[in-house]
Amino acid sequence: MSNFPKQPGFATRAIHHGYQSQDNHGALNPSICMSSTFAFDDAEQGGARFAGEQSGYIYSRLGNPTNSLLEARLAVLEGAEAGLSTGSGMGAITSLLWTLLLPGDEIIVDKTLYGCTFSFFNHGLARQGIQVRHIDLTNPDELQRVISSRTKVVYFETPANPNMRLVDIAIVSDMAKKAGAWVVVDNTYCTPYLQRPIALGADFVVHSATKYLNGHGDLIAGAVVGPQEQIDQVRLFGVKDMTGSVLSAQDAYLVMRGLKTLAIRMERHTSNAQIIAEYLLAHPLVEIVYYPGLESFDQYQLASKQMSLPGGMLAFELLGGMSDGIRFMNNLQLIKRAVSLGDAETLAQHPASMTHSTYTPEQRQQHLISDGLIRLSAGLEEVDDLLEDIEQSLDMLATHRCVA
Ligand SMILES: *Cc1c(COP(=O)(O)O)cnc(C)c1O
Repeated sequence: MSNFPKQPGFATRAIHHGYQSQDNHGALNPSICMSSTFAFDDAEQGGARFAGEQSGYIYSRLGNPTNSLLEARLAVLEGAEAGLSTGSGMGAITSLLWTLLLPGDEIIVDKTLYGCTFSFFNHGLARQGIQVRHIDLTNPDELQRVISSRTKVVYFETPANPNMRLVDIAIVSDMAKKAGAWVVVDNTYCTPYLQRPIALGADFVVHSATKYLNGHGDLIAGAVVGPQEQIDQVRLFGVKDMTGSVLSAQDAYLVMRGLKTLAIRMERHTSNAQIIAEYLLAHPLVEIVYYPGLESFDQYQLASKQMSLPGGMLAFELLGGMSDGIRFMNNLQLIKRAVSLGDAETLAQHPASMTHSTYTPEQRQQHLISDGLIRLSAGLEEVDDLLEDIEQSLDMLATHRCVA
């Protein structure tokens, strides 16, 4: 039965890929391999493994059977040759970029980035003599103007965290390829269920598996997928020697448990987000809603082109700016005030004071993150309960305004 079905669909692969119960005592689930090290039959075998002449496990910082299964699943879901699990999303990003970049190289990155990624580029890479150039990748002409033979990597998120700007993966990848640069896409917001950057020309995809891939808010994990040769280098240099960012086998198992429901969760996250976005759009206290599933979203066409669904993340601005943003957050009863995203619970956060507080106010302005922006990760609850909470929170803003 191992070749059946011949072309399994996404959800089938997310549940079954790479695992045969009959090879594992019939166990429905893979076991968790709790071992830091692996014994060799003899000294020659150990030598051959260290020399890379024989495959097999050596030590769990270099690989572990439970992690290997997760890595194979993530690679197949993203359509990549190979995958690597890491201890966090930041571990994935740093392990990959410390492997690809040398002093004197240039990396071109989008204006809008996850706060810690921004901090790693500007305070980490830049300090080691790597030139970091922020441009507006939503306008590919800008890339065409600045890309050169010094450019080693082009890096972006789409949709970008937190303001939902989209980058055209196919156009940017094509330009980068012609200039000989690697393209790295952070696909945390979409997951491969909604968007597959490699099929559109990107070389690597990085993930915070903490978010949708695991989906239950109970661990920190990351992953990189890409070409086999480079993923081997990230494993045997980036993770092994530079960052040591290893995912525990227990957490690798839990991410696989999360993957089993990824497809149905993404459907529900999306339908809840769509309903919330439409509600907010019609509300008189809301100035603007950023959600790729709204026709009013200025990159609606691009969203329809490269995303199969608009996803579970949205952002909006209240007419009352910063102060209303903070009061809206404080009025929430059911929705949690928390960073992170992709959990069963709906989460609201205020980027200017939370995830993007590593930016200076001027940088936030340059990077298009306004002070009144609220980011919402639509959870899996009954959408009517979410709407009721949002409504009562907005009603209190209106009441407050009349009194004041
Ligand atoms: C959370 C996040 C990261 C960092 O991942 P960790 O697992 O927290 O280290 C990177 N990129 C994006 C888009 C994220 O949301």
